[in-house]
Amino acid sequence: MREKNFRWALWSVLVGLVVFGLKWAAWLLTGSVGIYSDALESIVNIVAAAAALVALVVSARPADESHPFGHTKAEYFSAVIEGALILFAAVEMIRAAWSRFANPEPFEQPALGLALLALAAALMAAWALLLLAQGRRTRSPALVADAWHLLSDVIATTGVLIGAGLAWLLGWWWLDPVVAVLVALNILWVGFKLVRGSVGGLMDEALPAGEVARIKEVIAANLGRALEFHDLRTRAAGPRAFVEFHLVVPGSMPVDEAHAITERLERALSEALPGSVTVIHVEPESEAKKHPKMRLG
Ligand code: ZN
Ligand code: ZN
Repeated sequence: MREKNFRWALWSVLVGLVVFGLKWAAWLLTGSVGIYSDALESIVNIVAAAAALVALVVSARPADESHPFGHTKAEYFSAVIEGALILFAAVEMIRAAWSRFANPEPFEQPALGLALLALAAALMAAWALLLLAQGRRTRSPALVADAWHLLSDVIATTGVLIGAGLAWLLGWWWLDPVVAVLVALNILWVGFKLVRGSVGGLMDEALPAGEVARIKEVIAANLGRALEFHDLRTRAAGPRAFVEFHLVVPGSMPVDEAHAITERLERALSEALPGSVTVIHVEPESEAKKHPKMRLG
């Protein structure tokens, strides 16, 4: 699973380089600041994809003595780096747009330039959809972040294409820097959402409601002679989910039997949520009654 994500991230860098080459050529052919902004976004994509690659290598390392919960949170760093890069790129786009707004210029070779830009957009769209599917399948925030970023970039590129096309056909050269500013605002918004998602992971946000419901179902279906469960807590570190809860058993139940129930629950949960780690605290009925307010599960 992990090696596969690594290959996807590697291909992302290569696709990013091709897309960047097409956009850069389109900029050189036209001189459009809208296309220049879009090409800058491609640089962000390439560096972000490279950062995701490094994060995937680190997060694939198994747990060790100094990182007993594993290294999967490393994936959040690539999202944070991407957020910072987006900020720098947006500032440069607005700067370029500002100076062009003061001196509007017609495009040099618009037909060929815009054709190359359209080709870049088609390539990005196809790649982003593949990446999104893979990221969701393997619950990799680095790949999902990359895919969403790319999809929003496709929309931005399409907008640039339309804006530059109108500027060329109608001679509205002021439209080009306006498009560049819109590109900047768009990636700022993407960057904000990206950073917010990673902060959730770093803050040990609970798993999505659907997954928590699924966990409750699996526990309830595998209780056996155990009486109930409570204090269910969940969190995710990149692709790895962590689950813990209290399991209430009759006080007279032998440890052998209680342990067998926890083993069964752990197995069922790791089947329901591949890669998840479950810790179960067993307690007798009498103890559970002492903490009625603690019951969450
Ligand atoms: Zn308890
Ligand atoms: Zn055990």
